[in-house]
Amino acid sequence: LLEITDVKRAFGGHKAVDGVSLSLNEGEITCLLGPSGCGKSTLLRLISGLETIEGGTIAANGVVLSGKGIHVPPEKRDMGFVFQDYALFPHLSVRDNIGFGLKHLSVAERDERINSLLATVRLSDKAKLYPSSLSGGEQQRIALARALARHPRLILLDEPFSGLDAHLKSEVREATLNILETTGTTAIMVTHDAEEALSMGHALALMNEGKIIQTGTPEECYFNPASLVAARLLGETN
Ligand code: ATP
Ligand code: MG
Repeated sequence: LLEITDVKRAFGGHKAVDGVSLSLNEGEITCLLGPSGCGKSTLLRLISGLETIEGGTIAANGVVLSGKGIHVPPEKRDMGFVFQDYALFPHLSVRDNIGFGLKHLSVAERDERINSLLATVRLSDKAKLYPSSLSGGEQQRIALARALARHPRLILLDEPFSGLDAHLKSEVREATLNILETTGTTAIMVTHDAEEALSMGHALALMNEGKIIQTGTPEECYFNPASLVAARLLGETN
């Protein structure tokens, strides 16, 4: 679905993303695991088009989205994005947050889509509330519903469960898996939690200092870490 080839991006001499190649398979969740500052969020911003690349290409089904002299704007990329801080629009109700990107639909179609998403994230009773009166986990699920509302082919999740307590975390993880599976949406999910990556990912990509240091299934990576750094990322220290 998505082909990332030798993508580079630096900030003032610091190579935040340093020659990353990665492909995302249709319908799969790829977990991107790496320490703080290794370039995970930057890579997602490059994929989404919120940031421009300085080398390499990003292509979806053979169509170049980012490349030499090419930059397709974020809103034309058919992608949904859940940011690290899952910012919802504070002045809009839950219903209007989810419906924000659906102005092209008729009122009836829009209502139907919103209702079905609310049911999926199990928050139908909160439709009229404003974000400030929701818990962190509820806000997170609304952010997910909003990202999925336009039926994107690819969804980019940047540490979607950080800041949730253990109980909420497992609930929202389960809701997320359920939504992605039922909609067949391809996802790339950033985390620095090895357990989360191993349990949720169909595929893993381990990242360190701007580079992808290993890719594979969770089992392949866990039982066969390619380096000491990879082993440490997966929770093995020797
Ligand atoms: P975390 O797990 O803490 O979220 P991360 O892997 O997402 O970390 P990034 O946010 O991608 O890390 O940042 C990678 C590096 O690039 C960091 O050193 C960061 O300071 C730098 N960086 C990112 N965006 C910018 C920017 N707009 N201007 C300058 N430096 C930046
Ligand atoms: Mg980040």
